[in-house]
Amino acid sequence: MKIPISKPYFTDEEHRAMLRAFASGWVSQGPRVQEFEAAFAKLAGVKYAVAANSCTSAMHITLLALGVGPGDEVVVPSYTFVATANAVEYTGARPVFCDVLPDSYTIDPEDFARRITASTRAVMPVHQFGLVADMDAVRTVAKKKGIFVIEDAACAAGARRGGTHAGAFGIAGCFSFHPRKIITTGEGGMLVTSDEQLAERARVLRSHGASVSDLERHRDGGFVLPAYDVLGFNYRMTDLQASVGLRQLDKLERVIDVRRRRAEYYTERLAGVPGVTPPAVPDDAFHPFQSYVITLDDTLDRDAIGAAMEARGVATRQGTHAVHLTGYYSAKYGLSPDECPVARRLSEQTMALPLFPQLSRIEQNYVLQCLKDAIKDNRN
Ligand SMILES: *Cc1c(COP(=O)(O)O)cnc(C)c1O
Repeated sequence: MKIPISKPYFTDEEHRAMLRAFASGWVSQGPRVQEFEAAFAKLAGVKYAVAANSCTSAMHITLLALGVGPGDEVVVPSYTFVATANAVEYTGARPVFCDVLPDSYTIDPEDFARRITASTRAVMPVHQFGLVADMDAVRTVAKKKGIFVIEDAACAAGARRGGTHAGAFGIAGCFSFHPRKIITTGEGGMLVTSDEQLAERARVLRSHGASVSDLERHRDGGFVLPAYDVLGFNYRMTDLQASVGLRQLDKLERVIDVRRRRAEYYTERLAGVPGVTPPAVPDDAFHPFQSYVITLDDTLDRDAIGAAMEARGVATRQGTHAVHLTGYYSAKYGLSPDECPVARRLSEQTMALPLFPQLSRIEQNYVLQCLKDAIKDNRN
């Protein structure tokens, strides 16, 4: 057997939608992007959505639109994909790393509070692997200190906590449509917010700083001269991508339902396996399981176990890395590995198991058997 870590899920609907987009003549950002934005805003329960070519660029323009720049600090959990910190770094602000909680893999609100200084402008909680962070605690601290909450919701399409969708807790939230995420447009991102000024600024920043979009010019007969008063970027999503995204969105509920059932099966079968801690799901969380990530005891060699499983055809991955340990950040800011001890340990001991809608029960049983065998061998 050969089982990948993840696999995008498409049907003929995406193929047909993309052909229609080609035939329409709008292949760059146009009416399909606008439709996708409206559908996504509705899903998240916010007023505005601004599509971008990635979650990273969506986070970048969110920070810029809020005026974050040189001299500012933004608190970021260390246990995340490097892109969260990179988005801060692009603005000239300094990412300040805080630790995460060992059971939820999400931001430790108390450690976040300890990292706040007079220069802190924002915090970026990450809904790691799809689990919405403890937003009540994060918002309470942020509110008291007057700092923005920007959610890295890259993995959290369809995720909820206490009934509220990811991205609707802070001033803004950013989602990813990379193929490793729950729904995909190849590459792509989405900023959601209920702040009109933020949405407007982000729309201008994503399209060369132009005050008027191509779609608006087209509708007004073409001769509308945009102003270019700010330094913008080309961070636009294409209508080809949005046509796929709309059909992926139709599937979201079904896809999450299957992912949750597969995750539940793993958790059931891993109960009582010594050395393995399955992912925790708080009572008030609706977890879409973008990834299924276990923690292995310190006595186990995660990389050796991963290699043994790979040799039998089962792909696994590190849950995610600890950004404060990466070469760029540790060198630039002179960070000690002990800066965020939980993030460090999780970067060494977490393991993502294969999870995607097409994964069969037989394949899951094979993954479980390979994991148990590898653990047994690792103990001897
Ligand atoms: C995937 C991911 C990103 C980056 O998303 P892109 O769309 O590839 O830019 C950012 N943060 C987290 C937590 C992610 O998992």
